[in-house]
Amino acid sequence: MPAQFPEYTNGAAPPPRMGELVLQSVATRVFDAKREVWNDAMTRGEMETATELAAHVATLCAQHDVRVEWIERSKRAWAIRKHRAVRIYPVINQKRYATALHEIGHIVGRRQSGRRIEQEWGAWEFALEASIVEFTPATYRMIHRALTSYILRYTHRKGAYLPPKGDPFWRFVEEIADRAAF
Ligand SMILES: [Zn+2]
Repeated sequence: MPAQFPEYTNGAAPPPRMGELVLQSVATRVFDAKREVWNDAMTRGEMETATELAAHVATLCAQHDVRVEWIERSKRAWAIRKHRAVRIYPVINQKRYATALHEIGHIVGRRQSGRRIEQEWGAWEFALEASIVEFTPATYRMIHRALTSYILRYTHRKGAYLPPKGDPFWRFVEEIADRAAF
């Protein structure tokens, strides 16, 4: 994740299951983040949007029976498919929302029984399809960075799988690059 966000300091115990009650606590975390981290830097509009995005993540997790562990930004977001569990950052902005959707996509999205790069592709496809907001170019740049980091790693790793030329995967990467407005 990019480094422009200050450390998230609210160390409240992570909720064991998402649901109505938790949906409320996720919304509350946005306001906690405002008070403790953002120091009133968020506008009312930004806060309302963040609350909506956080609520959507909570709803998706409840719908798909996905367990959530909240992490600080020094840690890495992660998904464990066989446990239907994700580790995500509290959703206080669109990039974190996209990241949360991506991790949920590793549980419920397409291509998850494919190769690692295909799993990444499928999880980002899910994020794009499930999102209730239009992603900004900055969010697309983050997605592009995430995808290209895998591509670069696998380009240099002997025996690692990358989709062949002409595979729809590359069209997907191009579309992300277009929307990132490079
Ligand atoms: Zn991933």
